[in-house]
Amino acid sequence: MIKIFIFCFNFLFLQKDTSTVTHKEHLDVINGYKQLLVDIREYKLSPQQARERFQEMMFIMKEAHPNTRYDSTRVQLCFPLMGFDYRAVGGYGSGYIPRGYDLFDQAKKGSHPAHDIFMKDKNQDCLDDRTGEYVPVLSTTDGIVIAIENGWQTGSEYRGGNYIWIYDTNNGGLWYYAHQREIYVKTGQVVRAGQKIALVGRTGFNAAMPRSDTHLHMTYLRIDDDGNPFPVNTYGWLKEATTLLDPRIAIDLEPITKARKVEIQTNTKPIPNIKALETAFKLMKPTAVDKSVKSRRRHRQ
Ligand SMILES: [Zn+2]
Repeated sequence: MIKIFIFCFNFLFLQKDTSTVTHKEHLDVINGYKQLLVDIREYKLSPQQARERFQEMMFIMKEAHPNTRYDSTRVQLCFPLMGFDYRAVGGYGSGYIPRGYDLFDQAKKGSHPAHDIFMKDKNQDCLDDRTGEYVPVLSTTDGIVIAIENGWQTGSEYRGGNYIWIYDTNNGGLWYYAHQREIYVKTGQVVRAGQKIALVGRTGFNAAMPRSDTHLHMTYLRIDDDGNPFPVNTYGWLKEATTLLDPRIAIDLEPITKARKVEIQTNTKPIPNIKALETAFKLMKPTAVDKSVKSRRRHRQ
């Protein structure tokens, strides 16, 4: 019995002490992630090569941050637009389309594994029509910035515009924020949930077009044990997310989503008031979302 105990103790002790990730390897991932994105975008890597490089990077991040645990029922977020809440999410969450998404293959188009979160900006100057202020983008969780683009120019065909990628040190996984006007973080920076990282903007090929309403595009990728990314529908989490600063601003948001005339799912009746919204969204659980992710994964294998 004592021997077993000693064995277990040693095993745990050695496990803890033998992390093979060096400081340099950790930094190489943080500083190398953007290059991977660029190589994918410029077809310098085959999808398979890109996947393998991504997997290596995620192994290192997971080992470097061993306390991160992905449990879809326990994810707690700060809402990414300061003073807003889930009612700013376009299409009551129906804009999330994961089918066909492949981070490693630029040729695959048509998916939108993201939610677009809208502010009210009729004249498209990026100032909130109600406050006259720019809208800060807040980090939804704790994390480390692993890539930013801050030099998008009008006319550029790149769709993300000014973007940020953050490795989530609470849940593992990656957050992608796109179309920002200005970015306030640097690669390698540690951020806390609720920290101001950018301002909502209109950068990106499509986001800059007059037909687009000013919004934040936000994706979350869960990373499985093999280092593969899977998009997750974050609507359930956004619904429960904490609104920071002035939540009164969000009360006015319902007319925006209505004005967008997005197609509402057939089983969703027009929403008469906020109380009804609360009840309707109780039915949505993040775990239900994961089912589709799993089935897609099986499909791939
Ligand atoms: Zn989008």
